[in-house]
Amino acid sequence: MHIVEVEKLNHLFKTLQSKGYTTIGPKVRDGAIGLDALQSAADLPQHYTDEQAPGSYTLHKNGHKAFFNFVVGPQSWKKFLYEPRTRLFSARKNGKSFEVIPDKNGEGKRYAFIGVRPCELQAIAIHDKVFHTGEYVDDRYQKIRDNIFLVAINCTNPGGNCFCVSVKSGPAATQGYDLVLTEVATDEKHHFLIESGSPAGEEILRDMPHRDATQDEIDCAKRMLDSAAKNMGKSLDVSNIGQKLNDNFEHAHWDDVAKRCLSCTNCTMVCPTCFCSTVEDVTDLTGEHAERWRRWDSCFTSDFTKIAGGNTRMSTRTRYRQWLMHKFAHWQEQFGTLGCVGCGRCITWCPAGIDITREAARITDTGVPITTLEG
Ligand code: SF4
Ligand code: SF4
Repeated sequence: MHIVEVEKLNHLFKTLQSKGYTTIGPKVRDGAIGLDALQSAADLPQHYTDEQAPGSYTLHKNGHKAFFNFVVGPQSWKKFLYEPRTRLFSARKNGKSFEVIPDKNGEGKRYAFIGVRPCELQAIAIHDKVFHTGEYVDDRYQKIRDNIFLVAINCTNPGGNCFCVSVKSGPAATQGYDLVLTEVATDEKHHFLIESGSPAGEEILRDMPHRDATQDEIDCAKRMLDSAAKNMGKSLDVSNIGQKLNDNFEHAHWDDVAKRCLSCTNCTMVCPTCFCSTVEDVTDLTGEHAERWRRWDSCFTSDFTKIAGGNTRMSTRTRYRQWLMHKFAHWQEQFGTLGCVGCGRCITWCPAGIDITREAARITDTGVPITTLEG
């Protein structure tokens, strides 16, 4: 392990930029911490911290010298890897036929993501299974994913809605990064413990000013991460959760959630693993040109399950149940992993303050399946 002193942090940006990467990271925007292009370390949200609770997010500038003293905001890295809106192809009229022009989306993009939380690394690994290494490969995702450089930041100060320990995705990154940082910002010192996780990470680290970490410095960072693991804002027992949910498919609590849920789709938009999409065809008025666009969609909209002959999910109850059960039950059958990484975004950004840990616990804790009338 090595140490990068705080005043050398900007070398990370410069080194990555010199290798042709566009550096992306957390940035204050519209009263929250979003993800955006960063020119230098000065663009990071130093001195900021966030406070999160069900249905609540507050950003404070409290003067703390840390650069990463906050957790995840409303945006996730899927914004770059699996863009909210992307043109799949265009078509041009050519006599009585038409010519299809494939889009070049994803080509030439070379992103360095700086400040990726361990739960977000897990979310990217999940999307890799969906789009990259599974049966169906999404070429846009693949083109972008194959060229990214991941700088993870371990979590020493988890948020009020975090539960990464329950789903084993944090607070320390164990894999999936090129470089991983742990920020130590106390009265006496301010530096980053840094470790490489790939040959690409090793190469960047070699070009940065750094020194070997002392055992005391390694122990100090470990104590901070142990403490973070004990201070999760939320928790959820996920042992055998898929079976427990299947056993409680008709539990009365689904009705209780449905009374509060607005079907607004916020939870699916902010979730780093949700990947539902739809396609839209657009033509111009002359009929000479057409385009097919893909955009994020949500299992909370009634149109999403509208098929010839009707709709397979007619109520908010069935839609919320589908979402939660996909995360914790069906995802395991489909991809061999949970679909939730414990980031807490869906809890924070739900206008009704619906808390996935609380709802799942209510449904799985009773042990007694309760049948209601609605299907
Ligand atoms: S379901 Fe909620 S807590 Fe889990 S990954 Fe998605 S947004 Fe995060
Ligand atoms: S659970 Fe909350 S965020 Fe999700 S659709 Fe319902 S009201 Fe919206």
